[in-house]
Amino acid sequence: MAVRNKIFFFYKKEERTLEKIQSLLSLAITEGFEVVEDEKEANIIASIGGDGTFLQAVRKTGFRDDCLYVGVSTLENEFYCDFHIDDQAGMIEAMKNEQVEVRKYPALSVNIDGQGSFFCLNECSLRSSIIRTLEIDVFIDDLYFETFRGDGMIISTPTGSTAYNKSVSGAVVDPMLACYQISELASLNNNHYRTLGSSFILSDNRKMTLKIKHDNSHYPIIGMDNEAMSIKHCETLHFELTSKRIKTVKLKDNSFWHKVKRSFL
Ligand code: NAP
Ligand code: MN
Repeated sequence: MAVRNKIFFFYKKEERTLEKIQSLLSLAITEGFEVVEDEKEANIIASIGGDGTFLQAVRKTGFRDDCLYVGVSTLENEFYCDFHIDDQAGMIEAMKNEQVEVRKYPALSVNIDGQGSFFCLNECSLRSSIIRTLEIDVFIDDLYFETFRGDGMIISTPTGSTAYNKSVSGAVVDPMLACYQISELASLNNNHYRTLGSSFILSDNRKMTLKIKHDNSHYPIIGMDNEAMSIKHCETLHFELTSKRIKTVKLKDNSFWHKVKRSFL
């Protein structure tokens, strides 16, 4: 394996962050890293900020599975960040160490109307863009499963399970499981409309298809992590878990469940 030594820093250009980044940059150079301006040349991508920044770092660099992402937080406990900006020595040590433990996070792929696939690290969310409900036929593999009518649906990865999914009472899922979870946003349930009502989890061997009904001629807002898709016309969405894995550095005694406990308990 080629030595990982080309590092790209992804961050918001805020004054508070810029000060700290300056010393991190100098340290990286002193330690023999090459800081690159073009992320395509990098084999390490360091995101400085919060989880939202990490999601953007992965998205803007194209969900690369051939490089190591390093989440550096500027605040407190973050899910995608194993390092704190003030622990620069620990960060350099971990990036230099070939034996370092690596987390592998599954990404979700969403294909819209056969036009190509988009990736999500947290979730894909569909929401009604008007006051009226959305109506969606749900298929699991080739099975027609249910017709959803309500505000929308959230299709989340295991790492996304602690985000939007959790706010609507979805389960928190161990990222070592290759699966994805579907949660409802205010489904209508009565004698005409019936959905499962609870969240459900699909294995990576299953595909899910959503067909949006257009009797009302309005389209949902589609969110991929923290970005809204500028797609207006959309009929069919195919979901599956990809074999793509986003790799990040893992510190000892900092498992997903350590983070869950620290954040929520
Ligand atoms: P945001 O609206 O500024 O922040 C949402 C919050 O979720 C932030 O505190 C963020 O952490 C946190 N977060 C992001 N990913 C997480 C994860 N995997 N596990 C636990 N917490 C997580 O938006 P953002 O910071 O760009 O994050 C985008 C995410 O917000 C979306 O992917 C979605 O999951 C979530 N979201 C949640 C709701 C809701 O709960 N009602 C609604 C819309 C979106 P940081 O402060 O470290 O960035
Ligand atoms: Mn945020």
